[in-house]
Amino acid sequence: DHRGPAFEALTGELLAALAPVFNCHGPIIIFPSSGTGAWEAALVNTCAPGDRVLMAETGHFATQWLRLAERLGLVVDFLPGDWRSPADPDAIAARLADDREHAIRAVAVVHNETSTGVVSDVAAVRRAIDAADHPALLLVDTISSLASLPYDHDGWGVDVTVGASQKGLMLPPGLGFNAVGERALDAALTRAGVARGYWDWQPIIEANRQGRFPYTPATNLLFGLREALAMLAEEGLDEVFARHARHAAATGAAVAAWGLETVCRDPAYASASLTAVMLPEGHDADAFREGVERRYAMALGNGLGRFAGRVFRIGHLGDFDDLMLAATLSGVELGLDAAAVPRAGSGVAAALAVLGGRSA
Ligand code: PLP
Repeated sequence: DHRGPAFEALTGELLAALAPVFNCHGPIIIFPSSGTGAWEAALVNTCAPGDRVLMAETGHFATQWLRLAERLGLVVDFLPGDWRSPADPDAIAARLADDREHAIRAVAVVHNETSTGVVSDVAAVRRAIDAADHPALLLVDTISSLASLPYDHDGWGVDVTVGASQKGLMLPPGLGFNAVGERALDAALTRAGVARGYWDWQPIIEANRQGRFPYTPATNLLFGLREALAMLAEEGLDEVFARHARHAAATGAAVAAWGLETVCRDPAYASASLTAVMLPEGHDADAFREGVERRYAMALGNGLGRFAGRVFRIGHLGDFDDLMLAATLSGVELGLDAAAVPRAGSGVAAALAVLGGRSA
């Protein structure tokens, strides 16, 4: 009974347990939605049609967020990127410094670009906004980094953090999150004329105070969320982050040993939750992935947008351990050989050396 006392207690428990995951002490809104819904909610609660939004072209998901913003009637300034690098804080600072009228309402960046495996430095983006002395709100997508990479909504001065259930939170899809800072809340309350209903933060915040939701929440997923948050607390978030970083290092070592190239140009920005790998010219990444799926029933991520057919992605996030990674990389190595993709050496051996503490 989602309107009964047991559920009210669950709501309170979940909202309290989510705070350290986002490092947000403002309201955390839970929508029965995919991540795209949470993207839309972040925009419609803070911006009005015709407002300008500055976005960084980090890859496919940044591009999808841009398209959504345009469909909502926002005017997007898209800072061009090569899909292999993080958002450029200097370019953001320069664009904001040029905006003397303060027409730009928000800066929106994807923390962990799932299409490329590149992480952007959110704290540096905040510093860029502050250096330009600009009032723009900072909206950050953490859909594939939340509970996998360190994240600090309050400490980094983020105004709205967007999340979803299906990645580091280890749940099926169906929960979207907005962690909301004070300035964003103020913008939502004071900016009239923005059409929003389902995505409106206010009725949810008010109902949540009584442990309720204004409409039927995704009850089963909320029970799952309680378990996921208990698992994260049991392992400890720092240990969870260290495990993801170690798996990313082992995967990076495997890719280097195969003699292949990661999409991420600079290893300093490599994602801890996934690694995107380029196949050499003349090799079809989708045919390779299809062979791996057929032989080993293992699904690798596809190349998205401009990387379609050229890239495959290895996910190493969530409820994942050393042997799962070893098996995953073995499947990739066998699949490369079956597809006659030339490789230099054994990525599996290199990864095992990292996992066994025999190399950095
Ligand atoms: N943003 C990022 C970084 C994502 O990885 C995804 C989905 O994978 C989305 C947004 C869109 O979320 P959804 O597909 O849940 O609507």
